[in-house]
Amino acid sequence: MAQTILYLIVALMLLETLFEQWLSWINAKHWSEHIPEPLQGIYANDEYLKSRQYQKVNQRFGMITSAFSLLLIILMLLTGGFALVHNWVSSLVESSILIALLFFGVIGLAAELLGLPFTLYDTFVIETRFGFNKTTLRTFLTDKLKEWLLTALLGGAILSLIIWLWEKSGAYFWLLAWGVITLVSLFFTLFYSNLIVPLFNKQTPLEAGELKTAIDEFAQKAGFQLKNIFVIDGSKRSTRANAYFTGLGPKKRIVLYDTLIKELSTHELVAVLAHEIGHYKKKHSVTGLILGVLQTGLLLFLFSLFVSEPVLSQALGVDEATFHIGLIAFALLYSPLSMLTGIGMNLLSRKHEYQADAYAADFGLADALASSLKKLSVNNLSNLTPHPWYVFFHYSHPTLLQRLNRLQNMN
Ligand SMILES: [Zn+2]
Repeated sequence: MAQTILYLIVALMLLETLFEQWLSWINAKHWSEHIPEPLQGIYANDEYLKSRQYQKVNQRFGMITSAFSLLLIILMLLTGGFALVHNWVSSLVESSILIALLFFGVIGLAAELLGLPFTLYDTFVIETRFGFNKTTLRTFLTDKLKEWLLTALLGGAILSLIIWLWEKSGAYFWLLAWGVITLVSLFFTLFYSNLIVPLFNKQTPLEAGELKTAIDEFAQKAGFQLKNIFVIDGSKRSTRANAYFTGLGPKKRIVLYDTLIKELSTHELVAVLAHEIGHYKKKHSVTGLILGVLQTGLLLFLFSLFVSEPVLSQALGVDEATFHIGLIAFALLYSPLSMLTGIGMNLLSRKHEYQADAYAADFGLADALASSLKKLSVNNLSNLTPHPWYVFFHYSHPTLLQRLNRLQNMN
């Protein structure tokens, strides 16, 4: 039985990688030599060729990285590598929680170090070649160290608590773990901007001026209490432009990248802001939060059914039911289901994007939003003609062409 599960895991991973490679391949093939009619004039000819080159380079790079990580995991599975690490850390410490922490520490660190050459290449070769990268090696490395430290501290604390709950409460541990994870994610939804973002970026309140006045005027018209508009120094790392909405209730804030402010006119910025406010007004953030909580509940419930069964751990070469080994086997087996929920979330997200666009259009901002979306597409060297299936599986936003078509009809 354990053997069958092991082969099932390997087969699932192979299938998934093959499927992803195929999707990315048909997406690359779907590229059109000519810019679609409604998008003519967005890209200068040489920029269009550059965007094609960028997609090609990324597709090839993605193929190599995913093949490399597939190879590593399959090697670990077939040689009993996970059991080896487990036995080694078990010989160092006694407590089951410490064993699990060390186990994930070793595996996680190894994965990060092996992946480092790839992220370095992506940032300092590909992104630099196409003019996106602004980060220095120093910023890049301190970012990595901070990320690892944060993951070790937060991840370690949550993991310890969950294993402790599992050992104390048995079959119902998933309910308690669900409660803990929900509280933690609620806490970070509220305090993310205050606690995490400052570790990486500087956020300054938008200063008084033409833009601030225009935004205040719009917020008043929309009946939206907007006290917190911040500008973030995205330009420290990349030329890419963005804006996002974060927090809940009194902690809600809108964050504009300095790169976005540089790129767009005041009128276009108000349109982008209207789109973001649309997300809030249509309760998209709350919906997202609730769906996330429900997904975590489902995941934990399913996990609780299997975690105490020795067979999951045996599939990876460890004789008795062990929390962290079971967790790895479960995570690998769960991937088809997470693909399904991912498709559902993307479908919903694309629907929400149309709704937020429609909200901005209701204030007569359809044209301004359309021109800002075009500018952002060019700025990001976006693919103007992705394959519909690729969009179905991977896009959280509708394509530029789809959004422009809808906006045109709203005028
Ligand atoms: Zn949006």
